[in-house]
Amino acid sequence: MKFVGFKIIFIIALSLMGSVVNSEETSDFRLPTNFKPVSYELNVVTHLEDKFMFEGVVCIRMICVGATDTIVLHSTSLNIDTKSVVVANGGENVIPVSSVSFDPDKELMHVKSTVNFKPCDEYLLTIPFTGNLTDDSVGYFRRNYVDKESNQTRWLAITYFEPLGARRAFPCWDEPGYKATFKIRLSHKKGLTSISNMKFMNQINCPSNSDYVVDEFEESPPMSTYLLVYMVSDFVYTEADSENDQVKYRIICKKDLANKTEFAINLGPKALKYHEDYFDGKFPLHKQDMANIPDFPTDSMENWGLATFREGVLLIDLDVTKTVIVYDIARCITHELAHQWFGNLVTMKWWTSLWLNEGFAEYAGLRGVDFLFPESKYFQVQCVEFFLLALDFDSLQTADPLSVAIEKPDDIAPISLYPIMFTKGPILLHMMNTVLGEKTFKQGIRNYIRKYKFSNAEQDDLWSLLTEEAHRQGTLDKNLTVKQIMDTWTFQAGYPVLNVVRDYSAGTVILSQERYLSIKSNGTDNKTCWWIPINMTTSGDVNQTNATFWLNCENNNLTIPLANDNEWVIYNMQMTVLFRVFYDTRNWMGIICTLNDPTKYETIPTLNRVQLILDSLSFSQVGDMDYEITFQLLKYLKYEKDYTPWLAALTGWREIDYLLYRTPKHAVFQNNMRDMLSCMYSKFRNIDEKVNGYENINFKILVISRACEYQTKDCIQRVLDLFRKWMKSVDPDNNNIVPKDLKTIINCYAIQYGGADEWNFLWERFQRSNLTSEKNDMIYALGCSSIKALLLRYLNWSLDESIIPREYASAVLSPVMVNEAGFLVAKEFLYCKIADIYEYDQRQGNSLVEFVNNIASQMKTKEELKEFQSFIIKSSRYFKEPDLVINQITETINKNIEWTLKFYNKITNTV
Ligand SMILES: [Zn+2]
Repeated sequence: MKFVGFKIIFIIALSLMGSVVNSEETSDFRLPTNFKPVSYELNVVTHLEDKFMFEGVVCIRMICVGATDTIVLHSTSLNIDTKSVVVANGGENVIPVSSVSFDPDKELMHVKSTVNFKPCDEYLLTIPFTGNLTDDSVGYFRRNYVDKESNQTRWLAITYFEPLGARRAFPCWDEPGYKATFKIRLSHKKGLTSISNMKFMNQINCPSNSDYVVDEFEESPPMSTYLLVYMVSDFVYTEADSENDQVKYRIICKKDLANKTEFAINLGPKALKYHEDYFDGKFPLHKQDMANIPDFPTDSMENWGLATFREGVLLIDLDVTKTVIVYDIARCITHELAHQWFGNLVTMKWWTSLWLNEGFAEYAGLRGVDFLFPESKYFQVQCVEFFLLALDFDSLQTADPLSVAIEKPDDIAPISLYPIMFTKGPILLHMMNTVLGEKTFKQGIRNYIRKYKFSNAEQDDLWSLLTEEAHRQGTLDKNLTVKQIMDTWTFQAGYPVLNVVRDYSAGTVILSQERYLSIKSNGTDNKTCWWIPINMTTSGDVNQTNATFWLNCENNNLTIPLANDNEWVIYNMQMTVLFRVFYDTRNWMGIICTLNDPTKYETIPTLNRVQLILDSLSFSQVGDMDYEITFQLLKYLKYEKDYTPWLAALTGWREIDYLLYRTPKHAVFQNNMRDMLSCMYSKFRNIDEKVNGYENINFKILVISRACEYQTKDCIQRVLDLFRKWMKSVDPDNNNIVPKDLKTIINCYAIQYGGADEWNFLWERFQRSNLTSEKNDMIYALGCSSIKALLLRYLNWSLDESIIPREYASAVLSPVMVNEAGFLVAKEFLYCKIADIYEYDQRQGNSLVEFVNNIASQMKTKEELKEFQSFIIKSSRYFKEPDLVINQITETINKNIEWTLKFYNKITNTV
């Protein structure tokens, strides 16, 4: 939920760190390169309801590339009768098989022959197999739902293969570099339907079972195994009036959601057209389906020609769904459609380039939504949100680079969860776009898609085509390559701070860089350096953006002339590059003077005001800049009318806010925040009044939520009045009078400032609602209570599936954690129930690590550190890597202790 801010995402991100890649540990789990698959024929019979299993035969045509007597491919969790494996040569003469064996650790299957396979010869490998359709979340698995009309449970079978799932569904060369064509036939009971990547061709009766039919699909172009998909269900189809006659666009979902497809079915063809124009290439397949799957393991998956979405991520009721979620869904659809070219038509050679695959799709998704909804300012708002996350997360010593060596299967999954994948990647691509210019960037991408279509590529291939185009168009110095620049950003963790030191008497400025670290206990890092594109503007001529030049390792400490009658200089115009800028005090004071002049502050571009706020707060927090200066800067907010600077300021304040929780001075802080917000609050205080546009809606949500949080009486009263009016309505489940966009915050603050009656009312609504998005809102709001007994009972319920369904349980903790009353309750709950939490998490320990990091983020005394360390030591059996957990919590709590010692008195006297 967006209004919580980034703290939670950040904490979750922290808990994932350390589990990521250890590149020194290598293994030989990659497939040997003796064979290259050319085409697959895959026949799968799906048995639902009675047996929950599948039977299949895969027939793989392949070419021998290096002499060997053994074929090695992936297979795991399948039952294979080794005697039925057949190898034949190109002429379909059988070649004797001496043994078939399995290596479960590496998920490999070895088919050994008595003769040697010859390079350049073609062979045919046929493997019959069976497997179980379980409740798993990878491979070919089952899901169910209750049909509303008949009230009966219905089953479906669906695949999810990225990254290593295909080998669980059929034996194959399950690495993205092995592209081949696929001819798929799916058998299933009559009355059900099947879909796959490619267009349906025909159906015949199953020769061996009169209850079954066989569906045949077109043969695919060459593609990677992780992008395959098939599904058997009783779902219905809605077809779009396509803007593009050659591509059939359909939404597939259970029957009772068919009236919620309007948004997706209208947006899809427009987004496809946008991408076709961007890539300057027709959509590569004949159809594009999007399926809405109950309890799908991830938000969405870009399978070629049939993208799959978790319920709630694709279909919406425009009257009920919050505007911010509508835009998120638009981005998700546009992201998955961008993959149809970038990722599916051209695929990464290996998982090391996953960041580029996801980073580009996300960037294209943002750009696409911005194009389709031009009034929204979507790109600008999202850019700021991405910067907030990346600047924070990537400032830790323990951060990982985007491009990481991946050697073994276990390395891949954590990478795909790595939060900067979806933030730093798009930021870097945007940097290259602004440095090279849209024309060069777009042409470079088009050249890349054209050159590598139906094939594989890696980041260097894209860099080289961008360089070629930039040199051709004269947008990049001939002595410089995109690779030189981008390698410093993708192979190194972190980002730089640009130090700007002016010599006012000499009329010069000296620029230098070092890595920016938000925790300095381990010293500074001035060995790492980046190619930083530098541009600037001055108070002397605010309209002039100086041309870009480069700061790099060779010319660190660059001296350039700057007239001393300029009050100030500002670098990184429009915040297009990921770095912070540290100015000398005189320059800061010049900037502050302009900001605090209501007639002048807008001469500094909005995104630069955002950067000034973010940087000054962060510099003060690490002790590099006096809070006094930052507060003087923030005073200008009384004039600020734009959303993103407020978002930056209020998110930046969050850290301080949390550190003041449970201290005598927190009330003083809240008081001051109230004053600062009062002007904006009076603009938005009429809760019922509708505001339009993505940016304005976000602005209103932010202001109302913070005004209520900082105990603005008028805000609390209005929220309670509205909520209580809803409580009194005749049919509250079908007559929710709370404005849809404000539901989350109104529910939360009504629960926080209300009592048991409000809590019980909302709990009843949660139980009765059948809308996932509504239920998510309510489960969050119920954790906002200030009544400790209610919170404790609520946390206990989160471990009891009969009270809170498992899919909602994980959402219980975060509101309790960010709630001032909730911290002690959550801590006690952790201390008493650690064994139960561990069991509930199916002995994974993932929820526990997240929980522990959340608790640590709010501890700030030596006593708390000691107490928590000994608790973790005592409970070490519940953690996979207890030492890592101890290091993480120690680092976090020490940072808080240090801050409190240095700044607590100072800040509470100043704010
Ligand atoms: Zn993606």
